[in-house]
Amino acid sequence: MTTPDRPRTLVTGGSRGIGAAVARRLARAGHDLVLAYRTDAEAATRTAAEVEALGAACTVVRADVVDPGAVDRLFSEAGPLTGVVSNAGATLHIGPLAETPVEVIARTVELNLTSALYVARAAVRAMSVSRGGSGGVLVTIGSGAATTGSPGEYVQYAAAKAGVDAMTLGLAQEVARDGVRVVAVAPGIIETTIHADAGEPGRLARVGPSVPMGRPGEPSEVADAVAWLMSPEASYVTGTTVRVGGGR
Ligand code: NDP
Repeated sequence: MTTPDRPRTLVTGGSRGIGAAVARRLARAGHDLVLAYRTDAEAATRTAAEVEALGAACTVVRADVVDPGAVDRLFSEAGPLTGVVSNAGATLHIGPLAETPVEVIARTVELNLTSALYVARAAVRAMSVSRGGSGGVLVTIGSGAATTGSPGEYVQYAAAKAGVDAMTLGLAQEVARDGVRVVAVAPGIIETTIHADAGEPGRLARVGPSVPMGRPGEPSEVADAVAWLMSPEASYVTGTTVRVGGGR
């Protein structure tokens, strides 16, 4: 059994947005990090420098999480882990389902659900005690969309993220006696470039005021929840989704 001196956590989509905020927050909590990204090497290098400045060891790996072979290579390069944050994802498109191209539907489900299953499978294989791991925590980033359904915006994304919640519940029960906790965090609308990348740069200004708290969330507010779930303070928390949505 491998027991690293410091927690060592892999964050997919750790280059930018919520994933980068999680990496910084975990570095402050004493974790070493493996940051995975797909294309934005500059952002990944910048985030790695930030976490190293906070005292964390950091390895950066390029891996497209929709490719199961790349996910296997990522975990093999990562080495022993005590935590995985499965965060890579994107809405990709905004509009009613009937107007959404079928290729976009397929890509959305592949990126937000299928890849989360690949990462979760690899995480359990890496961390479970029965396979020689030290035990650990898998946190998957879902979405508040899973329970609102996101009508008129991205029903296909909401459906994929609902799948993440189901995976979290079932997998947590599968591995509860094997040293691994499995939890999800469901953010509401958070200030990152995900909205502009999906084609609506003004979405934060349009939707933010309708949130009960009257504003979008900060990536750091999601990161704080992730850090708590990964900490020993959450030792009896598994198989659940924690919503970080300002009341919605
Ligand atoms: P960003 O667009 O800011 O960052 C996305 C990250 O995911 C980047 O690091 C990107 O890498 C990586 N990524 C995207 N596709 C792949 C891929 N195929 N393989 C590997 N990495 C990939 O998004 P957010 O930070 O906003 O979102 C993070 C998570 O939070 C997502 O799962 C999203 O669905 C969820 N979420 C976000 C909300 C929001 O309002 N922002 C609300 C609810 C949930 P690279 O830099 O290389 O492109």
